[in-house]
Amino acid sequence: MPPASVQPSSAESPLALVVEDDAIIREDILTVLKQVGVRCLPAGDGAEGLRLFLQHFPDLVITDLRMPGMDGLEMIRRIRDLSDDVCIVIASAFSDQQTLLSSINLAVNGFVTKPIQREELVALAQRCTLPGRGGRTLLRKVLDHNPDLFMTTDGERVLYMNRPLLAFMGADAPDDGAMRRIAERLRPWDGQHEAEWLARLLEQGGNDHFLVGGPSADGTGERTFLVRVSRLPIEDAHLFVVSFTDVTRIREERDFYLDLALKDALTGLANRKRLDDELKKEVWRAERYAKELGLIMFDIDDFKRINDTRGHQVGDHVLAELAGLVRDAVRRVDIVARYGGEEFCILAPETSAEGVADLAEKLRRRVEAHEFAGAGRMTVSFGVAQYFPGESPASLLARADQALYQAKREGKNRVVCAADPSEIDLHGSCED
Ligand code: GH3
Ligand code: MG
Ligand code: MG
Repeated sequence: MPPASVQPSSAESPLALVVEDDAIIREDILTVLKQVGVRCLPAGDGAEGLRLFLQHFPDLVITDLRMPGMDGLEMIRRIRDLSDDVCIVIASAFSDQQTLLSSINLAVNGFVTKPIQREELVALAQRCTLPGRGGRTLLRKVLDHNPDLFMTTDGERVLYMNRPLLAFMGADAPDDGAMRRIAERLRPWDGQHEAEWLARLLEQGGNDHFLVGGPSADGTGERTFLVRVSRLPIEDAHLFVVSFTDVTRIREERDFYLDLALKDALTGLANRKRLDDELKKEVWRAERYAKELGLIMFDIDDFKRINDTRGHQVGDHVLAELAGLVRDAVRRVDIVARYGGEEFCILAPETSAEGVADLAEKLRRRVEAHEFAGAGRMTVSFGVAQYFPGESPASLLARADQALYQAKREGKNRVVCAADPSEIDLHGSCED
């Protein structure tokens, strides 16, 4: 049990940073402050004091003046650069005129003389922590209730994380590994998967549209964030504020509209734009990695007749039904697109010429055997082309189209494989 005069401290208790190089004096100050319910952060010199200040934003700083490394006045100057309202008390045995003047310039809130008088220290601590604390507590609450994730860092360690960031990371407080864990959990959207993205972003001083995504530890699933970095102007020290704005909803909407823009509304297949994009990508891949790539073009035989005899609505249903039939028959990596009207395309990556021709033949039979709702039996003609190294996407398409045209000429309901690029004249051969 603590003695009667000791007040228990809690997370809501004022927090004091005690900067003193003499361990015995430091302990004395800590003991007195703890007895009146003030939580304490001990530091042995100015540099450590400044680091702890940035990490914890204490309500009160009690500091010695003469210390190795960064001395008390220098540390106070830097802390004052960051905060006008933190209460700063100098605990010192000496007080020459110059020190006093500097202290006034730095808006120091009080002095205690050494040796420390308990009552003097308690009175000062209580006076100092009471009025300022409200503001800082409010600021912390504001940061904790902001939906954005916030952290501060010196570039190497995370100094502060607001509550939403702690919840996202499933952490209680920032620790030495926090920086690495944040960079691992959240990954850049631009595909660079190096773990140093956060360090690099800090180096660059941020980026206007840097998106990262990753799973939340608090069960809210995969989230997407816009990351912004700002650097606080502190001389020869780094302090960055990094914010993560949750843009998951906006990203989902963007994906939705992107999907819509690349999809054919009637059949749900890829549209011409998507086919063009994928074709370019696959041709590049086939070229770069010396892979095979097959392309099938097909067109419904005598489709006009369906429209003319059964009406356009039935025609539309036939198109959708055919799309489903084809989609179910191909591999997941294959891309089925509506090229236009009642003409379709299948892009079959890493498939041999034989494999592509077999797929077309399989589809031809499937369609031939299928009973279309309201329209009965239909047939389809196929043109098949295999990518040749060095060939352009347009040439590959043109060859498949030409083979399809030949299938129509030769009596429809058949598969025709395209000639090699060197054997055909591609000019004027693409038109139906
Ligand atoms: P072929 O065997 O030579 O391919 O003959 P075809 O009758 O299929 O000839 P063509 O390609 O000239 O005609 C295609 C028809 O498909 C013409 C057009 O009205 C119809 N069509 C194109 N898009 C749609 C659509 O979205 N819905 C419906 N119902 N019909 C369409
Ligand atoms: Mg047709
Ligand atoms: Mg046609």
